[in-house]
Amino acid sequence: MEPRDLSAHVPYEAGRGIEETARELGVTPEELTKLSSNENAWGPSPKAVVALREAAATVHAYPKASHANLTEQLANRFNVTDEQVWVANGGDGALDYLARALIEPGDRVLVSEPGFAYYAMSARFHHGRVNHYPLEKADGFAQTADRVLDSYDGERIVYVTSPHNPAGTEMPLEEVERLADQTADRTLVVVDEAYAEFSESPSAVKLVRERDDVAVLRTFSKVYGLAGCRLGYALVPPAWGDAYARINTPFAASELACRAGLAALEDDEHVEKTVKGARRAREYMYDNLECRTFESQGNFVLAEVGDGTRVFEAAKQAGVIVRDTTSFGLPECVRITCGTPAMTERAVEAVNDAL
Ligand code: PMP
Repeated sequence: MEPRDLSAHVPYEAGRGIEETARELGVTPEELTKLSSNENAWGPSPKAVVALREAAATVHAYPKASHANLTEQLANRFNVTDEQVWVANGGDGALDYLARALIEPGDRVLVSEPGFAYYAMSARFHHGRVNHYPLEKADGFAQTADRVLDSYDGERIVYVTSPHNPAGTEMPLEEVERLADQTADRTLVVVDEAYAEFSESPSAVKLVRERDDVAVLRTFSKVYGLAGCRLGYALVPPAWGDAYARINTPFAASELACRAGLAALEDDEHVEKTVKGARRAREYMYDNLECRTFESQGNFVLAEVGDGTRVFEAAKQAGVIVRDTTSFGLPECVRITCGTPAMTERAVEAVNDAL
């Protein structure tokens, strides 16, 4: 017996882990600087850590109240109804829920190239097919409605990543609106705002409140430092009513994740420290990397180093793990997550030495 034909499915390539790299190099994890997965270099929200410890005593019970409380808090924060907040196991889980709610077998989706791999993976899991729109290095990976519309052919879902991973560019709100205007009624524009807190641009949540064809994705993995908890959500159009109740996996996020998320939402100090630190690190990288960099609104910077795999390997030997962006379709680049000053300086030195 075998699984169904999975030949069109490709495994997700995560940034290199610190333990596996430490083993490979024969060093301890503490000796390494890991800036390969856009995690929070300042750690988790301290308030979330306290909440996790407290919640540990009650994990024998299914999460019901905490999930409802988190949904309510997020709805209040974004001025939407509870039904518009689809809490999930990470932003990736929320992408699955959107695909599950929308895609009929054979429906097509449109994703950026280069771009984040999970949109296509999720669509394929749900028997969808995948088309691409290019973002061009020649114009600094600029994101406009026309750039997408040139490739658009009635797809069911169009994914926009703003700020974009790995390029760092944004699609201005007016362009998102124009894109939604120009696409068919049955096309959903998903604006992935996983990195929105690092940017100063207005969020597309405004469009979620106003229209029935835009959804926004958010995560607790980045600015709140809860990547290991797996917590994210989609904000969906008001007209979608009870769709979430029909498609979500029961207890979509764990008790620990929900409690940590609730505490992290109250932790303005940690958010501020993280955002300030990331902005400082971006500037440091633009100023000190001896290669072309792309201005980023996320907690990472894309650097054009020539041979990404070679530079990744050389930096690793020097104890710094960056992201080789070959799997994103950019073999000439690496992506470096914003670190603390010491981490960022070490990474810049390692990459410069490798150039
Ligand atoms: N969207 C983008 C653009 C991302 O980079 C990531 C994380 N790598 C996610 C969504 C999903 O993050 P998570 O599942 O950890 O919430």
